[in-house]
Amino acid sequence: MKSLQDNCGVFGLCSDTECVHDIFQGIDFLQHRGQEYCGISTFDGGIRQITHYGKVAGTFKYEDLEYLKGTRGIGHVSLWERQPVRWQCQLGEIAVAFSGNVLNSDELIADMKARGKAFFQGYDIEVICKIIMEERDVVAGIHALAKKVKGAYSLVVLSNDGIYAARDIYGFRPLILGKAAGRRAVASESRAIQNLEMEILRDVRAGEVVLINDKGFKTMAQLDSPRRAHCAFEWAYTASLDSIIDGVYVQEARNNLGKSLAERDIEEGGLEADIVAAVPMSGIGHALGYHRRSKINYQEVFLYNRYADRSYTQSTQLAREKMAKRKLSVLHYAVKEKRIVLCDDSIVRGTQILHKVRDLKKAGAKEVHVRIACPPLMCPCNFGISTRSHEELTARRYFKTGHIVSMEQLRELEVRIADEINADSVKYNSLDAFVAAMGIPREDLCLMCFDGRSPTETE
Ligand code: SF4
Repeated sequence: MKSLQDNCGVFGLCSDTECVHDIFQGIDFLQHRGQEYCGISTFDGGIRQITHYGKVAGTFKYEDLEYLKGTRGIGHVSLWERQPVRWQCQLGEIAVAFSGNVLNSDELIADMKARGKAFFQGYDIEVICKIIMEERDVVAGIHALAKKVKGAYSLVVLSNDGIYAARDIYGFRPLILGKAAGRRAVASESRAIQNLEMEILRDVRAGEVVLINDKGFKTMAQLDSPRRAHCAFEWAYTASLDSIIDGVYVQEARNNLGKSLAERDIEEGGLEADIVAAVPMSGIGHALGYHRRSKINYQEVFLYNRYADRSYTQSTQLAREKMAKRKLSVLHYAVKEKRIVLCDDSIVRGTQILHKVRDLKKAGAKEVHVRIACPPLMCPCNFGISTRSHEELTARRYFKTGHIVSMEQLRELEVRIADEINADSVKYNSLDAFVAAMGIPREDLCLMCFDGRSPTETE
């Protein structure tokens, strides 16, 4: 199994006019989903394509946008691989981009090699494309993906017919449709649609294949979906605060998760503190929820360096640590002599929260109480988010057998983590509290990070 997976964002647009500037902006609005590579393909009778190493705004030049002619196209941002990829095949010329992860890629590659197929680098996108291209049309190709691929994917295929948009049969990764006069779009997150002055139409359903072209949106297939398994981490961390996914606002979910942490503190006797603060940016929604329920004043304690990247999606540990240092500086005036409730989304390795607690105490904070929106992370993700091996997950070091099953175990872990990161206390949301706060039925969520249960395996 791979120890590190990627996370990315896809965008597609059919327009009555030249589309490239909207696609450029669309993937720019998805930049938080991957910062290493970006790319755009457009169609003007044939496919034109440019990919870059780096971020959207810093790499696409005026000449690139001039070259990318056409009224429809797709775009991609990624942590690991250049996309879209373009092929000449029996389906004509196509370009494909996807967000997700193919768990059984080794097996699929071996099978295709045995049948005479050649592979360039063996990336997941190559596997996805080759499965699609073996079939008589794109819809049949996506059908074949559902049968053969174990994993998670939301994908867009640019072809002579228009743009095909599809979500895997569990609906792990988000994918949403939007429209405005003369424009029809699909995006990994609604913010890319809303910020382009388009209206949200609806989410693509798990297992649905939609064709987008100048005639509008057409469902070409609805594949059988054994269950939904939307990635719970999207609402807690990955997605942007201004997005709505599968009918639930990210901001609302984060506020509720913070509120739930405050309620636990109230139920357990109350917490004496002067301020509630967030680890920016992903802790802000949680901290505001905590503040509103606890009535403890909200105060920023870190200044966010908007020119630094999000540390989680950096591809190496060293890059992450350097970036974390560049990212936040302490607001000493706000912190001195204060008892602080510090909210964040999750603890992965524990090093970053350790540094934050240390920095606040060094700046004169009297107490730091850490409150974490997600339950303890006990299992690496198989489906496309960049968590690491079991050994690197801090909580897992204390519970080697699996996941937390009782509040006693959770409290025991919290004491150990508080000790490890030198905080005055640590509390997480329990898994039950987490699910209740999200407001999404448990059976529609992937919670494998927290309980180790793969939603794709029947029990
Ligand atoms: S394992 Fe975790 S990060 Fe991966 S899809 Fe499931 S909930 Fe999301």
